[in-house]
Amino acid sequence: MAGDDFREVMDAMADPLVACDGDERVLYLNPAAERLLGWKPGELPGRPFTCLVPERLRSFEGRSFLRYLLGRRRALSGRPVRVSLLRREGSELEVEVTVGTSMGGGGERIAVVMRRPPELPDYTDEPLERLSSAGHPRTAPPVSPGERAYQLVFENAPLGLFHFDTTPIIVACNDYFVRIMGSSKRMLIGLNLLTLQDEAILACVRDVLSGRHAYYEGEYHSVTSGKATPVRAHFAPCFNEDGQVEGGVGIVEDVTEQRSAEAERDRLFREAQEAIRVRDDFLTIASHELKTPLTPLSLRLASLERRLERKEPVDPALLRHARQHLVRLAALINDLLDASRIEAGRLALHLEPTRLDAIIERVLTVMDAERGQHRIDYSHPPEAVRIRGDAYRLEQVIANLLENALKYSPADSTVRVTLDARGDFALLSVADEGIGIPRDQQEQLFERYFRARNVSVTSYGGLGLGLYISRDIVERHGGRIWVESEVGRGATFHVALPLLSAANPTPPEPRPSTGPSQQVH
Ligand code: ADP
Repeated sequence: MAGDDFREVMDAMADPLVACDGDERVLYLNPAAERLLGWKPGELPGRPFTCLVPERLRSFEGRSFLRYLLGRRRALSGRPVRVSLLRREGSELEVEVTVGTSMGGGGERIAVVMRRPPELPDYTDEPLERLSSAGHPRTAPPVSPGERAYQLVFENAPLGLFHFDTTPIIVACNDYFVRIMGSSKRMLIGLNLLTLQDEAILACVRDVLSGRHAYYEGEYHSVTSGKATPVRAHFAPCFNEDGQVEGGVGIVEDVTEQRSAEAERDRLFREAQEAIRVRDDFLTIASHELKTPLTPLSLRLASLERRLERKEPVDPALLRHARQHLVRLAALINDLLDASRIEAGRLALHLEPTRLDAIIERVLTVMDAERGQHRIDYSHPPEAVRIRGDAYRLEQVIANLLENALKYSPADSTVRVTLDARGDFALLSVADEGIGIPRDQQEQLFERYFRARNVSVTSYGGLGLGLYISRDIVERHGGRIWVESEVGRGATFHVALPLLSAANPTPPEPRPSTGPSQQVH
C-alpha cells in the first residue's frame, strides 16, 4: 500500500493511533488521536512520546514506557493494557493501549493504538491489565457489592446520566444517554463538551464548573450522527471534600413523547377552537337564514288579514308567496334535521328498484317554477336508466344540485343537466355558468356547514348543509359525488350511482359528461 493510501486509512480509523520513530518521537497521529488527546493538527509530530505519558509512568525497570510495553507484548498476547495518558492541557485520561513495532526502509516504527475503555468495567470478566503507579501491570480488583449496586442503578436508570471532569471531558455515561445522543459510547467517553457547537449547552457546562446548577431544554443535534432529539437536561456540579468543583453530572431526559403529546394537545385545542368558530358562524348564518323568510311571510299574512277583515277579495298570488316562504322555512328546518340524523347515523334510506331518468324529470318539473330567467338544458339516453335507490332522497340530491346551480349563476345563463349510463354506472352532471368554486376549497365543499369564501351571507343565502347531506345519500347508495370548477367559469357537479344491472360496481374516476342536448321549456 502506498504511503498516502496508508495515511488515508489511518486518518479514517475510529480508534486513536500514534506512530513514532525508533527514538520515540511522534511522526504522525490520526484525527481520532488528536481529538482524544486534545492536540491540534501538526502540533504533536516531532515531540517525544513521553509528553503523552504522566511523569510517574515514564520509566519502568530502567526502560521507557513504550519499550516496557513492547517488551511485554508476548506476555500480553494481544490484550490491551489500561494506562493513564496525558492530554495536551495536562489532565489524565484512562485508555487501553496496544503497541506494535516494525522495521522498514526509514528505520524502526512504533505504533500505539488507543481505545477508550468502557467505563465501570466488570473486572470479573476478561481481566484487563493495568499499569500501577509503580509501573507494574496488575489485574484490576473485583467490584464490591456496593459498587456493583451503584453500577446497576447508573446503567438502568430511566434517564440519560453522564459525568464530566473539569476539562470538561465526559468520563462516564450510561446506555440511555448513549441512545439519546445517537452516538456510540466510545465516541462519547472522552468527548470534550467544549467541542459541542450548542452555545446553550456550553453555558450550562460553564455554570456547573462555577458551582451552579443549570437547565437545558431544546433539540440536541448529535455531532456524530446528525440526529436531532428534543431533550430536557439538568446539570449539577460535583464537589470534592474540600468543597471544590471536580466536574459535573448531567441528567438528560428524552422528551420526544412529551413533545408529541403537547403537539397533539395543541392540535386538538386548535380543532376545538375551529369547531367553536364554525358553530358560531353557523348560528349567525342559521339565524339569518331562518329569519329571512319570516319577515315577508308575516307581512303577507298581515295583508291577508286586513283584506279579509275589510271583506276585500284575496289575491291568490299573496297566498302563493306566503306559502313559498313557508316552504323555504320548512326546507331549512328539514336540512337541519337531516344533518343531525346523519351525524347520529339515523338517516334511513329505503332502497328499491327505480328509474333515475324519471326522478330527474320529476325534479325538473317542480323546479320549472323556480328557474326564473335561467334556461335548463337536459340531455339523457333514450332508454330507461334503472338503479336501486331511495327516490325521495335522490330527488333531494338532484334538487339541491339544481337549486345551487340556479342560485350561484347569473339569471339569464344556462344550467346543463346530463344523464348517461357508463359501464356499471349512471352518471348525472349538473353544470352552470356561475361564480365557480376556489380550487383550494373544493375538497371541503361536502363538509358540514362549509360555504366557499366567494359566497357572502347577504348575496347568497344557505346553511352549507345541502352538499353534506347529498354526499351522505349518494355514498350510501354505493355512489360518488364530486365537483369540477374554476372561479368565475361555473361549476359542474357529477353524481355516479350504480346501475341496477351492475354486479360489483366501483365508482368511476371523476370526468365530465358529454352527450346530445335537449332543451327543457
Ligand atoms: P349552501 O348552498 O346552502 O351554502 P351547499 O352545501 O349546497 O350549501 O353548498 C355548499 C357551498 O358550496 C356553498 O355555500 C357554495 O360556496 C358552494 N357551492 C355549491 N354549489 C355551487 C355552485 N353551483 N357554484 C358555486 N358554488 C357552489
